[in-house]
Amino acid sequence: MRDLSSRNQKLLGLKKKIALAAAGTLLAAASIAAGTAIVPSDFEIPVLLANGEVITPPWYVTVEGECVALVDSRDDARKVVKQVANYYKNEETIDLEIKERTSSKEMDLKNGDEKPNILTVEEAADEIASKQELTVKTTELSAEEQPVSFETITRKTEKLYKGQTKVKQEGRTGRKEVIKEVTKENGQTVEEQVLEETLLEEPEPEITLKGTKERPKPAELVSAKVGTGKMTAPVSQLNVTSSFGPRWGRTHLGVDLAMPQGSSICAADGGTVIFTGYCGSYGNLVKLDHGNGIVTYYAHCSQILAEQGSRVKKGDPIAKVGSTGNSTGPHLHFEVRVNGENVDPMGYL
Ligand SMILES: [Zn+2]
Repeated sequence: MRDLSSRNQKLLGLKKKIALAAAGTLLAAASIAAGTAIVPSDFEIPVLLANGEVITPPWYVTVEGECVALVDSRDDARKVVKQVANYYKNEETIDLEIKERTSSKEMDLKNGDEKPNILTVEEAADEIASKQELTVKTTELSAEEQPVSFETITRKTEKLYKGQTKVKQEGRTGRKEVIKEVTKENGQTVEEQVLEETLLEEPEPEITLKGTKERPKPAELVSAKVGTGKMTAPVSQLNVTSSFGPRWGRTHLGVDLAMPQGSSICAADGGTVIFTGYCGSYGNLVKLDHGNGIVTYYAHCSQILAEQGSRVKKGDPIAKVGSTGNSTGPHLHFEVRVNGENVDPMGYL
């Protein structure tokens, strides 16, 4: 970081250097005001006015040939232009220019004329400035502090899953000093040009970590963590209305447990939810994979609570008892499959 006071000294030096140039410009402006009048002042002939007053003829300030104000003398006309220019000059000004061509012109005054309305230098300058009859173009030096925005960096990491992000470092805005050349016309900025920029404080980038690790598939989750192998009853009462085994000439693949509509159905063991949804005669069905080849089915549900792909612990509520699918009343049809083979769930409860 650069020393602050040395920068200020540099700016001050720069200003002084151009202030000299500005003085020259002001003189130039004044000389324009002197105009191209060729009659020397000592040739001015006094005039006797109608009111008996004797005066030398007053002078007009002219802008682009137009008479805009009447003052006592040619010298005053010159001062008026300088005064208007001064309105827009301040300590930051390094250059000044009047855009219009200005001059002065003696009034054609005859003996016996009425007294003309002659303004003081201040009055004339005020009038010209308020009517914006002159365009004073100034150039100023300005030094200001500005924020420096931080960049955003994204880094890949194996530590996060795909789609996961984490802000490792918060970004912080920096600061810089900007020295500008500002061009104004009658005090209104018309152009800005940056001369120099000095960094005062470095911005800190925002660092975001973006995961690249593949999300585990349900099967991997299962192998990573399996059920306890010991099941709990999926409903609060074991009210068996139909056992596992042969039934009406077919094999009943599970056990039917009668329960009031809306009763809670819980995971018989910890595992992964591998299916949720409507499935033919099962109605609303939840399937859990407990690892080691063991899968349980929960059928005819009125409502499914578990989310497919999620993990559940033994006893977690996963659905509610209902009578969807091929069912004659609210009950849970519960199946246990080992390596794809249906077995009697009662052997596990
Ligand atoms: Zn059944």
